[in-house]
Amino acid sequence: MWGRHRVSIALVASLAVASLALAETAPKLPRVRVLATGGTIAGAQASAGDYGYKSGEFKVEDLIKAVPNLDKLASMTGEQIVNIGSQDMNDQVWLKLAKRLNEVLAMPDVDAVVITHGTDTMEETAYFLSLVTKSDKPVVLVGSMRPATAVSADGPGNLYNGVAAAIDPEAKGRGVLVSLNDEIHYARDVSKTDTTSLQTFHSLNRGPAGLIHTGHPLWFQRPDTKLGTSSQFSVDKLEKLPRVDILYAHANMSPDLIDAAVKAGAQGLVIAGVGDGNMTTPALDAVTKAAKNGVVVVRSTRLPMGLVLRNNEVDDDKLGLVASGEMNPPHARVLLQLALTKTKDPKAIQQIFYSY
Ligand code: ASP
Repeated sequence: MWGRHRVSIALVASLAVASLALAETAPKLPRVRVLATGGTIAGAQASAGDYGYKSGEFKVEDLIKAVPNLDKLASMTGEQIVNIGSQDMNDQVWLKLAKRLNEVLAMPDVDAVVITHGTDTMEETAYFLSLVTKSDKPVVLVGSMRPATAVSADGPGNLYNGVAAAIDPEAKGRGVLVSLNDEIHYARDVSKTDTTSLQTFHSLNRGPAGLIHTGHPLWFQRPDTKLGTSSQFSVDKLEKLPRVDILYAHANMSPDLIDAAVKAGAQGLVIAGVGDGNMTTPALDAVTKAAKNGVVVVRSTRLPMGLVLRNNEVDDDKLGLVASGEMNPPHARVLLQLALTKTKDPKAIQQIFYSY
């Protein structure tokens, strides 16, 4: 009896030593903070067969809990920043989110951040954040095209891949990323291209930053434009952003909406031009007048791909305009808002468009 007891004491002691050693050698999970902002990924339908739904119904804790095996990938914590459809995204939320993101990235116990967000304006938020984030730690925006209650909801898989991308050592220094439907994209290059398809995000000019399958990323080329710690822009002292409007060009475009935007207080205008950033002669006259009065006008394009070239069909030097290069109208608007926090000189802003 006494002998058996001695054996079991020895067994317990050796097990305790072994588990202590295991705890010491077991690799620690990366620590990921989710900043949740709403969107379809947090959306709920009235019934599973119904295609109507409301964005931003579920809280960050529900999103994390809904992903099988996420706790084996990373040690997860979450914060709710807002809970909105991203069609309601605005400058105030951007500033709040960007400031909090910088605080969280500076925390020694956070290795990476994943932001859940609606897909409608995801490319704009991602690009804004990529220009004002003061850290090399990975930041990945994740959303979904189907609400959380849908049959085959894509949110949990996208969140799993988003976390896997964020904790991958190769993600460091790539700036803010967007991950959906097994792809990873740079904030600067990505556009939403389809109203409802799961395969909606494309980097039309440059291609994706990488692919990701069941948590295993394969990375492509590194970014070669300014972002993150190499960006000159900061939200630290900003309480608001300059107003920049986008106007869509078409046959028979009148100058009226351009004049109205200037009158309403726009400090910058982005024209979603036809072709290579073109517009009717009356519209071009109106933007030239606006530029002479100190409004910075960027010519972008309503086309999904290609560059808007400086001094090609339009004499930007003479008219005082800026050519958007690769920037589509939503990206151009973000960059112009931030550029206007530094300068109102269209030549300096053209240089900014060349390097960001
Ligand atoms: N309207 C939604 C949003 O942007 C769409 C989505 O998340 O997919 O919030």
